[in-house]
Amino acid sequence: MILPNQVSADKVEKNGWDVLVAGAGPAGSAASICLARLGYRVLMLDEASFPREKVCGDGFLSDAQRSLKRLGAYEAVESEGRVSPRLSMISPSGHKTHLNGAFLTCKRVTADAILAARAVEEGAVFARGRVESLEAGADGVEFVLSNGSGPVRGRVGMIATGARLSLLNGRGIANARRRCDAVGIRCYVQSDHDLDELLVCEDQSVMPGYGWIFPMANGEFNMGVGLFNAKRNGDSNLNRMFDRFITQYEPARLIMEKSRGRTPCRAAMLRCGLSGAEPVAGENLLVLGEALGATYPYTGEGIGTALESGELAARAVHEAFCGKGRQGLALYPRLVRQILVPRHRGWCLCQKYLSSPRMNDLFIRLAKPGSFAQSALEHVCNHSMNPAELLSPLALARAWVRWKKGK
Ligand SMILES: Cc1cc2nc3c(=O)[nH]c(=O)nc-3n(C[C@H](O)[C@H](O)[C@H](O)COP(=O)(O)OP(=O)(O)OC[C@H]3O[C@@H](n4cnc5c(N)ncnc54)[C@H](O)[C@@H]3O)c2cc1C
Repeated sequence: MILPNQVSADKVEKNGWDVLVAGAGPAGSAASICLARLGYRVLMLDEASFPREKVCGDGFLSDAQRSLKRLGAYEAVESEGRVSPRLSMISPSGHKTHLNGAFLTCKRVTADAILAARAVEEGAVFARGRVESLEAGADGVEFVLSNGSGPVRGRVGMIATGARLSLLNGRGIANARRRCDAVGIRCYVQSDHDLDELLVCEDQSVMPGYGWIFPMANGEFNMGVGLFNAKRNGDSNLNRMFDRFITQYEPARLIMEKSRGRTPCRAAMLRCGLSGAEPVAGENLLVLGEALGATYPYTGEGIGTALESGELAARAVHEAFCGKGRQGLALYPRLVRQILVPRHRGWCLCQKYLSSPRMNDLFIRLAKPGSFAQSALEHVCNHSMNPAELLSPLALARAWVRWKKGK
């Protein structure tokens, strides 16, 4: 496994940093890679010692893959992971549709270490340390670390701490105290069962939540269940839901029957629909990834948008350092509005309509192999079509004409 060189936070210089980044998940690492590449002095801090586990489905869909390529990390992640040719969606009444593509899975413990190592390769300094509090003003930012070694100072700060927003509490940011939108649990199962497709299901056994089975490298499966707050009704205990999933849902049962062992289930929160903190949380302070709420509603997919938000934030910081100052940083919320907001609106609509079991059944039934609906779903899944278009008659008509011509 590629390991990043992570030094202790009390060994790093206290002053003279261009950018301080709190959190070395996909968002923090992506921003650090881009800025270190441009020659800026970047200090990336994470409270965890890498490699560290992250509870996730470990699915790197097409937007994440595109970002990994731009960041120079795709090949390393792919060589540690597995690419399956299909993703299938299963509706509450058991209807199933297949989407073709290249669906990469890689354990986050490995992929995040690769990304952090890329940042170090590009010249960032990676330190282990918990950011306890911060100050941000016109002269720059100051991160106070929990090791008591005195604050570190930089020109711009980035908050990429995932679903946890405690660093922003008390800073007058309305959304920072908002509770998370969803919660999920997952475990790894070693099994001799053969399955070469990712399964995402809203089967009866996991109602009112959803379940997934993602094949990983080396005969392992990432299996989990999740639940959006908006759908909390009936029995919403995730451990019981998971037990029902692995005993009642046929493909999960088959995997468990041939299991050679499994890890305990672990849980984590999701912050979706851009419901986190504002992109600019104070002077010289940007918020990225799940802290921004960049994870998509309905799918819970957030690695791609976390990476992309890091890239966008880096672009704005570069503009600011190239002489545009505050105006440069103001590019970041503009990019978030132009690029991320429309996609999130699309996924919010999907959540609204497709989380109704009847609508979901109808939609999956329509998406038969070779059908227009299946092709449209493939485009949505590949992020080449905004999901909102599935619900717009005009956009659907245009897509239908394109599909007809392509046949
Ligand atoms: C159950 C589950 C399944 C999921 N499945 C998928 C999936 O299959 N595909 C997908 O695309 N997305 C998935 N997601 C969403 C995805 O995991 C997140 O969107 C993604 O991890 C967000 O990246 P991030 O960099 O913003 O935050 P994170 O990956 O959470 O990284 C934040 C980092 O900040 C560090 N940190 C936190 N506080 C501090 C502090 N005060 N000081 C220093 N460091 C700190 C943490 O240690 C951590 O390393 C899933 C999420 C869950 C919960």
